[in-house]
Amino acid sequence: MKKIGILILLVCFMISPLSVNAYVLNGLRVPNPQSVTYSVETNNATATYTEVDAVISAIPSWQIHCPELKIVRSNSNNADMNFYFRLNQDNGMYSSAYAGTEPDKKEITFYRPWKSLNITKKQEVAVHEAGHMLGLDHCQAQYNSEAVMRATGFNNVGCPLADDKRGIAALY
Ligand SMILES: [Zn+2]
Repeated sequence: MKKIGILILLVCFMISPLSVNAYVLNGLRVPNPQSVTYSVETNNATATYTEVDAVISAIPSWQIHCPELKIVRSNSNNADMNFYFRLNQDNGMYSSAYAGTEPDKKEITFYRPWKSLNITKKQEVAVHEAGHMLGLDHCQAQYNSEAVMRATGFNNVGCPLADDKRGIAALY
């Protein structure tokens, strides 16, 4: 019986350091977390009004769930994150996030496979890509169920989850 007790203690000790850093940071940081700007391309014929609106309504969920952030929509494509629709282009990806060093090169682009998702999944993808621009990398796989930053698959919730909130709180 004593042996079992020691074994359980050891296992707990080995698991606990992982739970402290479940989220992973990618080195990016928005300059002003209390005014995080985003723009959405609205004049692209490949995207429907509903699709544009899905993105516009999803991104402020970062502010709702993370008190460290204030999200502000911008008309300039110099924003901290700029969403583009390339829905005729099929490269096998839902979307991509690209952060160049130039201020006007913070691009999140949606591709044709994104179009086939339901609204909630479309929003989950948009919130995920915004998370990259805010400084979050993909989470450790065992935290997939509590992170919009999961590397693959969906939680079917279009907002940041517990692990994402811990990451933002640690970064800002
Ligand atoms: Zn990603």
